[in-house]
Amino acid sequence: MKFAVFGEPIQHSLSPQIHQQFGLQAGLKLEYLRILTPPKDLKKRFYEFVEQGGSGANFTLPLKELATDLADQVEDVSLQTGATNTLVQRGTQWVATNTDGLGLVSDLLRKFGSLQDKKILMLGAGGAARGVLPALLAQNPRTLHIANRTPERAERLVNDAFRFHQEAPLSAGALTLMPDPDFDLIINATSSGLDQEKPKIKESLLKSKPFCYDMVYGDKQTPFLEWASGRNCEVADGLGMLVGQAAESFRRWTGVMPDVGTVILRVRKQLSQV
Ligand code: NAP
Repeated sequence: MKFAVFGEPIQHSLSPQIHQQFGLQAGLKLEYLRILTPPKDLKKRFYEFVEQGGSGANFTLPLKELATDLADQVEDVSLQTGATNTLVQRGTQWVATNTDGLGLVSDLLRKFGSLQDKKILMLGAGGAARGVLPALLAQNPRTLHIANRTPERAERLVNDAFRFHQEAPLSAGALTLMPDPDFDLIINATSSGLDQEKPKIKESLLKSKPFCYDMVYGDKQTPFLEWASGRNCEVADGLGMLVGQAAESFRRWTGVMPDVGTVILRVRKQLSQV
């Protein structure tokens, strides 16, 4: 079995380690490559990979939107999010899907619990926020508010989502103006952690002691999680989401659902040794 992740940059990707561990668990011998791919070369690199026996592919930045064009069939989640992170081979056809939302939700179910009837705040309105929106809505939260540094982008995201989810309890706005400060869960889907910053949100948001989740992960806590844990909120980073979305891709390619928990522990250990 031959799989690959395409992106630019790609050297940092943990996907090969994660999928090798899934393969070991399942007793499957597999090859998983990192393929450095600027957007203009995507088609060429992908078809070279297929010719060499590639049987499943992942896509990361900046290719998630373009990857949908490689597919013969597009699943609803890719249509709704406008993004594809996984291509699955079905006979001669390639099927586009997006497992990011399932990865996030499975991690939240493990660490936070049920999302049903919960009040959720998501910070950020980029590709990551867009990609997980359908999966979050499928959990039937009471409300889901999207706040972004550039509020127009959050409003556009919510308006796009209403096209597929007319009755969804969605709202949008700026980071500094929240309709209801009393959230159960705050998901940081911004890239602020990569710049060692936290989104500029008000201290009062932590009064209700929401569970705080940051999609960014690394060998140390992001400024957002440091801020929240310093105020006695429970926190988790996005490593479980990363392993969870990989597990869903692996399941779609091989029919085997890996044990995510043990792989998260191993990758966490590797990260701390870097
Ligand atoms: P993106 O499309 O570039 O969007 C970036 C978002 O972050 C925008 O909403 C942007 O706001 C906001 N932002 C950036 N710096 C900020 C700051 N200092 N303060 C407040 N907001 C800030 O990126 P993306 O694809 O959505 O990815 C976001 C993050 O999620 C990345 O760091 C990525 O590593 C992470 N991620 C993790 C996983 C996982 O598996 N754990 C999966 C996907 C993504 P503006 O619109 O105002 O610019």
